[in-house]
Amino acid sequence: MKYIDEYRDSKIVKNLTNEIGEITTRPWSIMEICGGQTHSIMKYNLEEFLPDKIQLIHGPGCPVCVTPLEKIEKAINIASRSDVIFTTFGDMMRVPGLNDDLLSIKAGGADVRMVYSPLDAVKIAVKNPDKKVVFFAVGFETTAPANAASVVEAERSKVKNYSMLVSHVLVPPAIEVLLSDEASKIEGFLAAGHVCTVMGYSEYEPIVQKFEVPIVVTGFEPVDILQGIYLTVKQLEENRFKLENQYSRVVTKNGNSGAKEVMFNVFEITDMKWRGIGTIPQSGFKIKNKYSKYDAEKVFDINDIKVDEPEECIAGEILQGKKKPFECDAFGKECTPEHPLGAPMVSTEGACAAYFHYK
Ligand code: SF4
Repeated sequence: MKYIDEYRDSKIVKNLTNEIGEITTRPWSIMEICGGQTHSIMKYNLEEFLPDKIQLIHGPGCPVCVTPLEKIEKAINIASRSDVIFTTFGDMMRVPGLNDDLLSIKAGGADVRMVYSPLDAVKIAVKNPDKKVVFFAVGFETTAPANAASVVEAERSKVKNYSMLVSHVLVPPAIEVLLSDEASKIEGFLAAGHVCTVMGYSEYEPIVQKFEVPIVVTGFEPVDILQGIYLTVKQLEENRFKLENQYSRVVTKNGNSGAKEVMFNVFEITDMKWRGIGTIPQSGFKIKNKYSKYDAEKVFDINDIKVDEPEECIAGEILQGKKKPFECDAFGKECTPEHPLGAPMVSTEGACAAYFHYK
């Protein structure tokens, strides 16, 4: 299949790993930001082919993982109400709250439904005018345009019983927090190709200059990731720092203008709480006042729900690349995909789940 087979070609993979080996003269620590990239690295065992000098650090780019426990509790609070149909993508169903998850309250009678698109949630609202239908809008810049479009569609169709519980986060502010940490060992980044497909890459160029760190926009197949690593290592070895675009078959400098237009029509940038990291200034989206009737936090008046993260789960350290999943005492013991203690063990993009399945 074009754009798949050639990016999984074992000969190209071997050539690239040889080339990386030839140019690597000293240790380098590179963070792949996206959980999808982490899973590809684990699935294709790419670390085994790299020189020992290269350490890959897994980043915070798993939307389910960075959604704070507080937001999960808000979701469970709303979903437990008898006049609500709560809709969500499948990954969020099993993220543990304090005592329950969405799947367990569904088993107890709550009307929680898995959907494949926020527009499906709008359709459910149209078919159930006597219920309040809520969509759990979670994700990075990648999912924000479609979620914003559902609000525009609800407005256009005069749907009054639809709202979104929003937990949208943005990549560049998280990179700045990671690089501002004096303990950070990160020397280069693989930026997430799908995020840049929407946003473009111009917003990363000031970060490259400010922190003097190479950032390479990178895709998700084995050849993509190895090319991204090659370009990053080459810059590091040559003492250069610039923004490079490995994923040029998809990503342009300014991204998708239509997607950004709908996104910024509905959302505005705000401070946002990240799981285990805390509040990062200007790192998320909230619904603009002109669409406040679609904001579930306002519709259900749940702003007083405040919850701290559980101590036994070190998701914050995992998400910042400070520890690997196997350094968590609960990994593979109390915490497994069947009985997760934290979101990184649930999500298909979570580092803990990746290590559990592939290591
Ligand atoms: S292994 Fe489980 S408890 Fe430990 S950090 Fe990962 S999700 Fe949290």
